[in-house]
Amino acid sequence: MKKQIYLDYNATVPLLKEVKESLIDCMNVGPLNASSIHYYGRKGKDIIDIARTNISKLINTNKNNIIFTGSATEAINLLFSNFETIVVSSVEHFAVLSSSKSDHIIPVNQDGVVDLSYLELYLKKLVKNNKKILVSVMWVNNETGIIQPIEHVVEIAKKFGCLVHCDAAQALGKIKINLEEIELDFLTLSGHKIGAPTGIGALIYNDNIDLTPQILGGGQEKGMRAGTENILGIRGFGEAAKFIINSTEKNCSKVKSLRDYFQEKIKTSSPETIFFGEKANKVANTILMALPKIPGDLALMKLDLESFSVSSGSACSSGKVSKSHVVSAMGYDNLASNSVRFSFPPNDAILNLENLITRKELDRLAQCWSNLQAK
Ligand code: PLP
Repeated sequence: MKKQIYLDYNATVPLLKEVKESLIDCMNVGPLNASSIHYYGRKGKDIIDIARTNISKLINTNKNNIIFTGSATEAINLLFSNFETIVVSSVEHFAVLSSSKSDHIIPVNQDGVVDLSYLELYLKKLVKNNKKILVSVMWVNNETGIIQPIEHVVEIAKKFGCLVHCDAAQALGKIKINLEEIELDFLTLSGHKIGAPTGIGALIYNDNIDLTPQILGGGQEKGMRAGTENILGIRGFGEAAKFIINSTEKNCSKVKSLRDYFQEKIKTSSPETIFFGEKANKVANTILMALPKIPGDLALMKLDLESFSVSSGSACSSGKVSKSHVVSAMGYDNLASNSVRFSFPPNDAILNLENLITRKELDRLAQCWSNLQAK
C-alpha cells in the first residue's frame, strides 16, 4: 500500500505528540471541573490558567482578555451577535460570512487582497448613518494563503471610529501575531489549526467594550461563555501554543522551499496550471491552483486514489465540493469549481516532526497532477 500523504494542514493539523502527552497527563490528574472549590477544582483552574498564559505569550496580549470557546466559529458568532452593522471582505471564511449575514462586502483584487481604497470610501459613507460598526477582515485566507494588509485595514477603520475584528484562524502558527503592535479590538483563533484537538477556539477581546454572551449558565469564562470548561481542549491549545512559541516560530523556510519546489515542478510538468494569488504576499505553506479543464472534485478523487489527501479549500460540511467564493471573488468565476488547495505544515517545527513529506513524494504528486489531463 502506498504511504498516505497528507497535504491538508489548513483544514486541520494532526494532534502534536507533545499535545497528546499533555492530554494523557491531564486525564490522569483526575476529575477536573474548574468551578469546584476543592483540590481537583483548583487543579483544573491551574491548567486553564497555564493555557491562557501560553496563548497570551504567543500573541503578546493580556491573558485576562482571552475567552475560550468551542471553536473559532463559535467565537465569531459570539462576537457578531453584538453588532448590527458588520463590514466584511468578500473572501472571508463562512464562519464570518454566514454569521455576519452582512451585505456590506468589500471586494478583493485579482490577487485576493482586500481593496483598501474601496474600504475607505465605503466606511466614509456608512459611518454617516451608523454609530457602531464592526469591520471584520481575516489575517490569512484559508484557501489561497494570502496575507491581508491588516495593519492598513485597522488604520482605515480607526479613522472612521469603527471597531475591528480579525479572524486569525489561519494566521496562528504561520506568521507572527503581536497584539501589542496592532490596534485590533477582537481576534479569533482555532486550536486545531496549530496541533491542538478540534473543538477549542478563543475570542481575544478589548475589555473596554461590553459584549453580551450568547451562552448563559454557570458564569464560566467571566460570564462570557457558560458551560463547564473543555479542560482537555484548553490544555491542548495551551500546549500547542507553547510548542510553537518554543520552537522555530518565525522559521518557515523549509516549508517554503518544499512548497516552492512543488510549484516549480507543476509549472514544468503542467504549464496550463493556473495559480491563484501567486504574486501576493502569502504564507509559506499554501498553494491554490486549477487546471482549466478539470473539475476540482474529480481532481480530489483521483489524487485521493493515489494516496494524496488534499482539498478544494471550499468543502462544506457534507463533504461535497462547492464553487469557491474566494476564487470567484478574485475574478476567476470560470475556475471556481476547479481549484485545488495543497497546504503543507504551517511551520518548520511541525514539518520537522516526522519528516512529514519528501521531495520524492512531491515529484510523484506533480506527476499525478499532470496525469489528470491525460485522455
Ligand atoms: N476561519 C478560518 C479562516 C478558517 O480556516 C476556519 C477553519 O477552517 C475557521 C475560521 C473556523 O475554525 P473552527 O474550525 O475552529 O470553527
